[in-house]
Amino acid sequence: MLTLDILPEIEALMDKQGVNPQTKEHLLKCSRFHTFSAPGLLIGVYMTEYALELLKAQPDEILYAVSETHKCAPDALQIIAGCTVGNNRLRVIPIGRFAITINRKSWDPEVEGVRVFVDLNKLKQYPIINAWFTNDPSFDHHGNVMPLLDEIFIAGRKILSYEKVMVQTEIKKKWKSVTCTMCGETVPDYLAQGDLCISCAGTNYFRKISI
Ligand SMILES: [Zn+2]
Repeated sequence: MLTLDILPEIEALMDKQGVNPQTKEHLLKCSRFHTFSAPGLLIGVYMTEYALELLKAQPDEILYAVSETHKCAPDALQIIAGCTVGNNRLRVIPIGRFAITINRKSWDPEVEGVRVFVDLNKLKQYPIINAWFTNDPSFDHHGNVMPLLDEIFIAGRKILSYEKVMVQTEIKKKWKSVTCTMCGETVPDYLAQGDLCISCAGTNYFRKISI
């Protein structure tokens, strides 16, 4: 397991492969946030850095991001690009592609952004990453883990490609508060179904138990 106990060992691998100090700092910071050095998270760090560079983003600039997977990549965007789930500048769309997009703020319906993705053609040069990424049965999740990280640090952004895209923006909706007549809690009107919250209207994610 790539727990934080072995972070010094992983850091030594970064040094061995000459990872630059800024990237190293991001890799370590993201690992701590994520609670372990997941391979996808490390690739996500390279993707986020690459997208920021292509966008010529300034430090502390307000940016918006999309992750096309819920796995790992969102955490690199949260830590490095400051696009978080809570500040509503990160959208996680469960498409399942290992890709991210970053764009600037805009009041227009569309805004130019940079989309970075793992390029399968480039991945062929890196057999261990390729086996892990494609979930190939030949990948040994125990024995191959450190060699996998080693190859990720060697590859860096060489397994990535990018494209410029127009991103559909999400216009902030004006809303009114609606009090649900069943549970008595309030929700924004655009999430209500009549005078009920969505949960009481039938899509509850929990059921109550008596205390
Ligand atoms: Zn309710």
